[in-house]
This record gives sequence, structure tokens and C-alpha cells, in this order.
Amino acid sequence: MAEWEPVVGLEIHVQLKTRTKMFCRCESGFGAEPNTRTCPVCLGHPGTLPVPNAAAVEWTVKLGLALGCEIAGHALFHRKHYSYPDLAKGYQISQYDVPLCANGRFLVPGPDGDREIGIVRAHLEEDAAKNVHVGGAGGRIGGAAHTLVDYNRGGTPLVEIVTQPDLRSADEAKRFLQLLRQTIVELGISDAEMEKGTLRADANVSVRPRGADELRTRTELKNMNSFTYIARGIEAEVARQIEVWDSGGKVVQQTYDYHPETDALTVRRTKEEAEDYRYLPDPDLVPVEPPAELVERLRAEVPEAPGARIRRLEPQLGFELAEGLVASGRDRLYERTPGERRAVANVVMNQLAGAGIDPDAVDGDELGQLVEARDRIPRAAFLEALAHAGDPDFRAERYLAEAAVADVSELEPIVDDVLAAHPDEAAAYRRGKQGLLGFFVGQVMKRTQGKADAKVVNELLREKLSA
Ligand SMILES: [Zn+2]
Repeated sequence: MAEWEPVVGLEIHVQLKTRTKMFCRCESGFGAEPNTRTCPVCLGHPGTLPVPNAAAVEWTVKLGLALGCEIAGHALFHRKHYSYPDLAKGYQISQYDVPLCANGRFLVPGPDGDREIGIVRAHLEEDAAKNVHVGGAGGRIGGAAHTLVDYNRGGTPLVEIVTQPDLRSADEAKRFLQLLRQTIVELGISDAEMEKGTLRADANVSVRPRGADELRTRTELKNMNSFTYIARGIEAEVARQIEVWDSGGKVVQQTYDYHPETDALTVRRTKEEAEDYRYLPDPDLVPVEPPAELVERLRAEVPEAPGARIRRLEPQLGFELAEGLVASGRDRLYERTPGERRAVANVVMNQLAGAGIDPDAVDGDELGQLVEARDRIPRAAFLEALAHAGDPDFRAERYLAEAAVADVSELEPIVDDVLAAHPDEAAAYRRGKQGLLGFFVGQVMKRTQGKADAKVVNELLREKLSA
């Protein structure tokens, strides 16, 4: 049996969160009553003219720069023709042979070293409307009684990103997508939420004997709306293809839907030939020519790439923690919080995330004081303080002053003093008058104004009185 290597490429759609749509002034975004955010332009009425959204063009250039792409000095909008109810005009305005962004590289560090994933292109287009199938199982068209169309989504700006088939495992594909999502969120151009469909990804999957550089027949995987489902879908399809080749069969070029509930793959349609969309340059739209000064200004606004940040943090924290911090956007808080690096990383990554606190709302210096004090104060008091770390006027000092003293090195001399001051009671306790423990605890509490951690005091007293 041959040893097989997965070959995976991704096609990603990102819905930009511009205030208005791509080619008209209709408001963009979710939540409105169906078909209330439409106009003659996005409904494709005859005689209307599209006007490109400048913000959408700038944001696409910015994303292209973050993906290491070359920015076209002269990009074109094309019409992509197909007939479907979600497309009022009968064509979608998209980009074809001269996209805004092309030939990029995106760094994805892994536990076994770095990988650079090629970006074929990132282009700007308009989204189709939303079909709502009524009466079928699970909102699918099969078995539906009828279909409604909501044109609110029609015409909203969408960036399509196509990668080279450079990904070599389901895990790597997931890792790439997580860093890509973080990049998009940091650029502030989209919420990029898979569950809401503002970030969607399809995968092209094939396998080949390890060491070969041929590309075998690939299949397309759709309908995966979380990072985990994408990884599981790719894994299931890779396993299926290996089984086909190993049993002497041939993989057929098809599109599959992945069903996360059952881990099953079902065929969507067979592609006998490439679909013919009759692309033609849109005669209603002039070429897009981003000026060099604009491109340079946007380049300066792009934050340090997540991959580079992981590589920078890895020596102090190890790969897993470094990746976790960066992929969740918590590394900025980590970097502005003083203190022992691993302790800070753990608190930021685990406890603070567990408490559901927005890392950008936290003052690093205040958090640093908490982290520094975490072994001196009782755990409950530490967690209580941490739960408020995102409050606008949070001061660690206030919580630390109120917190009980749990630090043994601080309490031990006090316990010793109390025992030395009451030798008769100590002797009585040692002869069996165990009820005196409460008396000693009371004495320690008196000397610490009630701030001593009772559990630690009890342990210390028992230890010393049994010695
Ligand atoms: Zn409109």
C-alpha cells in the first residue's frame, strides 16, 4: 500500500463590513426585514449604473498586502454570467483575469517548522442574494415546497481568496484559516465569522503518493461552517480518496457536501467540463487603478503578520502557547503585560479567556500586578479580581488590599509568634485538647485584621502543633 500525501487548496469568501453595498448606496449587513435593503441598481433594473464602493476597493488592497500579494495597477471588473434566482441581473460582477491582488505568500508556522502558503489571487466581487428553501429538510432545496429570495444580501462586497494547493494536512488547512481570519479581523474589514457566513471556505482536495509532485484529480468540498468541520471534512475526504486509489479505483471530479452530524460526504454535482460563465469586461465600469501612494499608505496600516508574531513569541513560550495567543488575538495583551512570561501567557490564554473578557479592554500594568500576586492571595480572590480586569476603571491594588493573605512565607512568622505567646495552650493542645485550634486561628486572624486565609492558617497550625 502506497503512502499518501494530501494536497489541499482553499477558496475563501470574506464578506466586507462596509456600510453600503458594492455598487449602490443600499445599506449592507444582516438583520433587516427581507427585501428592504434593495434598489434598482442591486436589483438589476435596466438603465441603472453601478458605482464601485471606494472603501471596499481600499480594504481589498489592504487584505492583499497582508497576504503578501502584488497589487494590480490596472484591475478590471468582469461579468460572470449564470442564471439563478439569487442573481437579479443574470450576471455577477466579479474579477477574472486581472484581479486586484495576486501572487501572495502567507506564513503559517507549525509545530514542525514554518510553511509558506501561496496565494493565487484575492479579488473583489458582489455577493448573490440569499435563497431560503421552505418546507424541505434542514433548509435544503431537496424536498422544499417553495423557495423565497432575500435580495438584501445581493450586491454586498465579497473578497474571494484562492490559495495554491500548498496545504498538506487537514490540520494545516485549519491553522491557515485561523491565522487568515485573525488577519482579517485585525484589519477591521470584516467580522469574519464562519457561523454567520461572513467567512466561508471551500476546499479542493486530492491525494498523491508521498514524494511525488503530480497533481491527481481533485474534488471540491462545501458546506463546512466551522474550523473544526473544515478539518474533519478534509480528513474524511482524504480517507475516502485513499481508499478509492488503494482499491484500484479512480477518483472522479465531483463536488461534495460535508455533513458534520454524520461525518458523511454526499455528491452535489458532477463537473463534466469547466462551467462556462461567458466572462466579459463590464462595460459599465472603468478599470480600478489604485494610486501607488494609496497602496503605500495602506501598506503602512497593515499590522505585523500573525505568522511572524508566532515565530517571535515561540522561543519564550513554545509553539502551542505562542500560536494560541496569536490566533485568538490575545498576544497584544500578553506583550503589554509585565511579569514572568509564562505566567502572564497562561493567565491571558486560559483564565482570562475562560472568564470571557475582551483582551483589548484590559490594562496590561494592572493585570501584571494581579499575575505577580496570584500565589500570595487565595485562588477565589484572584479569580474574582480577574473577572473584573476588563472593567473601565479596574485597579488591581484595590482587589489585592481586600484579598486574604494566603502566602505561607507571610503567615508563618505570625503563626510562630502566636504559638510562642501562648505556650500553655500549645502544650494543652499537644496533650489532646484539639478544640484549642480555633483559639489559635482566632489569634492569627486578630493579628492580620482578619485577612489571613483560614485554610492556610489551619494547615500551618496543625503542622506546627504536631511537630
Ligand atoms: Zn442597492
